[in-house]
Amino acid sequence: MLIGAGESLSQSGSSKNQELTIGVLALQGSFAEHMAVLEKLGVQAREVRLRSDLDGLDGLIIPGGESTTIGKLAVDFDLLEQLRVFGRERAVWGTCAGAIFLSKDARRDQPLLELMDITVERNAFGRQIASFETELDIPALEQVSEHEKPFHGIFIRAPLIDSVEGDTQVLAALEDGRIVAAQQGNLLATAFHPELTEDDRVHRYFLKMVKAALEQDQ
Ligand code: GLN
Repeated sequence: MLIGAGESLSQSGSSKNQELTIGVLALQGSFAEHMAVLEKLGVQAREVRLRSDLDGLDGLIIPGGESTTIGKLAVDFDLLEQLRVFGRERAVWGTCAGAIFLSKDARRDQPLLELMDITVERNAFGRQIASFETELDIPALEQVSEHEKPFHGIFIRAPLIDSVEGDTQVLAALEDGRIVAAQQGNLLATAFHPELTEDDRVHRYFLKMVKAALEQDQ
């Protein structure tokens, strides 16, 4: 049970995807792929570059790319504080570099949102196996699909979630136990790239989190 407290999602009008507007931070990285999945799911998707682009959004995805670059551009565009405020009220999902940017600690000096109680290790898989693909068991996805099949995880110079703190919960780990997905209330972090697969279950799971955060705010 991880989508969020107060599960009465089906009552309000916001339970329909068509009525949601989801932003994708479009400073750098694989934002176009997330936009495409959202549009396929019938969601209004908006690229976010300016503070005003956050107005009226129901949720936000921070894509993969290069976390140092995303962080520096967020500082240059004067977005950092506004993103923090947004993430305290609405659902935010970071994939790969986006997960790093969401974290409290990346063990390096770079701009972070410091919203989520996770410590990450950048480029955790080293040069030899910088990129790889593997099947992941993600039990939480049963909430958006009856099919209990593994999720195909695509890792590209990926970070690991070294540790989770506070009320953060682990959603997925590699076979050796290293953490690759976590959730803390309305915040979601994945070290892999669901937007590069045909499988939209993580996106649909995130949309449920978006709706749960909206309901809690009412
Ligand atoms: N290696 C990148 C970083 O540390 C993340 C890679 C990715 O987002 N695919 O920011």
